[in-house]
Amino acid sequence: MRTPFVAGNWKMNTNKASAVELARGLAKLSFANVDVGVAPPFVYLDAVGQALAGSRIMLGAQDAYFEKNGAFTGEISCEMLKDLGVKFCLAGHSERRHVLREPSELVAKKAAAIYASGLTLVHCVGETIEQRLANQTLHVIEKQQDELVGDFSDPSRLVVAYEPVWAIGTGHNATDAQAQEVHAFIRKDLARRRNKDWADAVRIVYGGSMKPDNAKGLVEQHDVDGGLIGGASLKVDSFMGIIKAAESKTR
Ligand code: PEP
Repeated sequence: MRTPFVAGNWKMNTNKASAVELARGLAKLSFANVDVGVAPPFVYLDAVGQALAGSRIMLGAQDAYFEKNGAFTGEISCEMLKDLGVKFCLAGHSERRHVLREPSELVAKKAAAIYASGLTLVHCVGETIEQRLANQTLHVIEKQQDELVGDFSDPSRLVVAYEPVWAIGTGHNATDAQAQEVHAFIRKDLARRRNKDWADAVRIVYGGSMKPDNAKGLVEQHDVDGGLIGGASLKVDSFMGIIKAAESKTR
């Protein structure tokens, strides 16, 4: 049985006061048998970490550079994130791939560095609408999974987030069946790369307009182990609605 993983990606939202207020609200939540985390903007990590102290909510980061330190103006290393209490970090979010033009080679280096540092890696994959309409979805996902080069032997520290680009921030989520089809493919592809036991233990979460009212159907799917949530993670009530949906999967 995989423990569901539900993470909020705050992206470039909030200010210091609202980030701390949101974190304080989340810190009061009670839930069981779900791993929950939030990834605020870098500049609020410290303040949000303090507001979450003593709670079960993990601190996460939206990105990290692959080098440990040095002349890399503007970048943040995994060591710096760990110093602030960060437990997980995203790599390859679609906005980094498509808006910031981050190439696959860079995503791969970041993914390896995040995992090697001891953080939990959340590796984001997903197709554009053009790729889906051209029936290229599974091929695109397989190529993105090629980014997982190196040692990812501990499945508890690897999370794959399937986030169709056309569903992110659009209000149009993948259907339960569309999500399950791709998640099952991701797990099969992981098993091919290593072995079935390992692949069966990796959490594969869905992201893309997940809300309290569609979360239950999505997380009930056999290979959907939680969610990566953008918009709905910015309010305590809607984020909690999704955590509850994930909790019901473990019952
Ligand atoms: C995301 O950015 O990871 C995401 C899933 O966003 P949203 O929930 O707003 O679609």
